[in-house]
Amino acid sequence: MSKFLKYLDDCFPKVCGVQVVGAWEQKRKTKPENYCWRCGITMPSQGITEMGCAFCKNKKFNWDGCYRLGNYQKPLKDWIWQLKYHKEGIWGNYFGRILGQHISSHQRFEKEQPRIVCPVPLHFIHRFARGFNQAKEIGNGLAKGIGCDCVDLLKRHRKTKKQATLRNLKERKENVRGAFKSRGANVTGSSIYLVDDVKTTGATINECAKILRQMGAMKIYAVVVATAEPRARDSPNAENPIPQKD
Ligand SMILES: [Zn+2]
Repeated sequence: MSKFLKYLDDCFPKVCGVQVVGAWEQKRKTKPENYCWRCGITMPSQGITEMGCAFCKNKKFNWDGCYRLGNYQKPLKDWIWQLKYHKEGIWGNYFGRILGQHISSHQRFEKEQPRIVCPVPLHFIHRFARGFNQAKEIGNGLAKGIGCDCVDLLKRHRKTKKQATLRNLKERKENVRGAFKSRGANVTGSSIYLVDDVKTTGATINECAKILRQMGAMKIYAVVVATAEPRARDSPNAENPIPQKD
């Protein structure tokens, strides 16, 4: 992003968001970034196989694939910050719209019907404190982009600690275990696009995907704005390659 655009964006995020996002989109078109179709981390194409990449091929996920816009670093990191902590919900719509373009350009996309977009739910206390669920904002934009509905299929019935405050994958898994419930919809045979802002270990998305699978979903895709990369010091098979989310 040029300094001028950055300045405008800082001053008028709502007005300039479209232009800034347009610049991001252009960058992605001219400099596409490969990522693992399974876990979403950045990876050169020769490192990705039908089983995933070196970081995920031996791991079990409850989802079938992952879509993302980029790494959890600037400028995406700043924009996600705007969305979550400056209550600029409109950024969610921008993210969702680009994700929609990205997903619909994939070959695997056309085969999947019916589709439902489902946001990762916030506990109602957190949603009340923030005023909105950022995943729902992104999901609304995505649903418009791929022509389906964004539906709250899940609820977070137990208040959990912030995943970013926990040290490893084991603690994160424990934190979200049993925290989500179905709202009772029938999604048998559907392809679900499970949306969140950032994926780090994937523990939250995995727990949500487990419930969606129990509800009858045929395919489940993790759709996130950004994926945090495993730390350089972690080996490919490390149990907990966790960078901090915020
Ligand atoms: Zn992978």
